[in-house]
Amino acid sequence: MKICFIVAMQAEAQPFIDRFGVSEAPGFFLPLPCKMYQTDIDGNKLYVVLNGQQQGSDLVGCEAASVATMAAIQQLHPDLVINSGTCGAFKKNGAAIGDVYISNGVMFHDRRVPGDDAWGTQSLGNYPIFDRAAEIANAIGFKMGKVTTGSSLDMQPCDLQIIEENHGELKDMEGAAVAFVCSLFKTPIMLIKSVTDLCDESAETFEIFKKNLAMASHAIADANEKVINYLLKKS
Ligand code: SAH
Repeated sequence: MKICFIVAMQAEAQPFIDRFGVSEAPGFFLPLPCKMYQTDIDGNKLYVVLNGQQQGSDLVGCEAASVATMAAIQQLHPDLVINSGTCGAFKKNGAAIGDVYISNGVMFHDRRVPGDDAWGTQSLGNYPIFDRAAEIANAIGFKMGKVTTGSSLDMQPCDLQIIEENHGELKDMEGAAVAFVCSLFKTPIMLIKSVTDLCDESAETFEIFKKNLAMASHAIADANEKVINYLLKKS
């Protein structure tokens, strides 16, 4: 089996990279900025693809995630893509900082496109998720929730309205973009997200995010390891 993780930030990926001893293939995606790390696990392939950097900072967000996912699928031909990273969540739904979720749905929350229902439906996305996601979440004991994606770290009232109308629970900046590209290639996708901040608790999202990033990234490494072990033992 070939499993490819798509991760936005180096800090989010580093504990996972260290845990699995994946080694970088420098320049693999040139001229794209994405970075590729790989290793073998008992005849299976583990790839970790990062969006990459520009001017010294990580390329977070949908555009970079789409580019990384497309390059990864075309050049690595994974059987499964896993978008793992951090997210915001809602205290009112019982979320706590450091919680790990596996997604049971993924869509956009900041694409307000007027027109008929077809335009609205296409804008929101709602892409298919790997059909074993619920089985894996139940087996390992992770919560499940719907990821909604937008291009900003903050949350405007119009974003919240769409999130609430669609029962979104986890707010990120890449998930739906990764899932969109996977849907085009019919590549199964799972999302594993760890909560750095609570969207309904504090306006200081960035400060809280920075404070919890290292802890949440270790939680992701643990979660990713459990999912990999489960998949490779069972497949
Ligand atoms: N300038 C920041 C960049 C962080 S952007 C820095 O220096 O660290 C936040 C990243 O974490 C994105 O990749 C996004 O997917 C995720 N994220 C965490 N909490 C989020 C939230 N509340 N809303 C949206 N994205 C969030």
